[in-house]
Amino acid sequence: KQSRYEEMIVSLQLVPYGDKEKLLISRDITRFEKMEIMRRDFIANVSHELRTPLTIIGGFLETLLDEEMQDSDMEKRALTLMADQSKRMQRLVEDLLTLSRLENAQNTLHEEVVNIPALLQSLYQEAQSLSVGRHRITLNLVSDAQLSGSLDELRSALGNLVSNAVRYTPEGGDISLNWAEEHEQGLFFVQDSGIGIGPEHIPRLTERFYRVDRSRSRETGGTGLGLAIVKHVLGRHQARMEIVSEIGKGSIFKIWFPAKRLIKHSIHNKPAAH
Ligand code: ADP
Repeated sequence: KQSRYEEMIVSLQLVPYGDKEKLLISRDITRFEKMEIMRRDFIANVSHELRTPLTIIGGFLETLLDEEMQDSDMEKRALTLMADQSKRMQRLVEDLLTLSRLENAQNTLHEEVVNIPALLQSLYQEAQSLSVGRHRITLNLVSDAQLSGSLDELRSALGNLVSNAVRYTPEGGDISLNWAEEHEQGLFFVQDSGIGIGPEHIPRLTERFYRVDRSRSRETGGTGLGLAIVKHVLGRHQARMEIVSEIGKGSIFKIWFPAKRLIKHSIHNKPAAH
């Protein structure tokens, strides 16, 4: 009988059993156990992430039900805080839905021609409104190549990297969004002069809910799922990410898209090759 545990079967053996034979099946359950631990951790994390805002909202609702509090300054503050917490839960649930859509292997990639320069132009504007003048932001379009891929997915992946650059760069810092071609591949990168990341954290950043500084992530509205989403989108586009970072100096998040996904403009737009 086919089963999802089939790949864990290591050996099948027929051994004598009285005047009959019996079938011995050995399985390697380490992978299964690892999956179970990951699943349990994930549920614990989601529950914890939802419990905090719910506790805050519940507490304030009780205060507001107290008639003495009505029409006071406290009422206004409580309502504002509750609205913030409900937005936080909304972002979390949206990111969870995005992740589960991306993880569903049956969801094949919806391919279209994605105008990366235009997409970066709109992400640049979003970065400016998120930064509200606190950073110097530049956009460098060295290539005019487009990409074959999903616009929605690429917008969410590249947008996550851009919003992280704004959120993890203190006031007065520099951020650049770049699109170029290198070694025949498409190269997108975001560079920031922000807080940087220690080398021990870099390999774990794309794990769901992994954060270097939990409180900074929360304060700036992070769900802890952004880079997990980026990883899945890149996998679906056969792209790879490289992170170069130094604490106190800043970070570069580079993404290489394979040559086969690049759609170059007509020869007339290109300088003659000599
Ligand atoms: P979050 O919602 O917490 O930002 P992400 O998955 O987007 O979640 O990022 C995971 C962690 O990686 C963040 O909590 C932060 O510690 C770190 N990180 C991501 N981008 C940057 C950056 N540009 N500079 C410094 N740290 C970063």
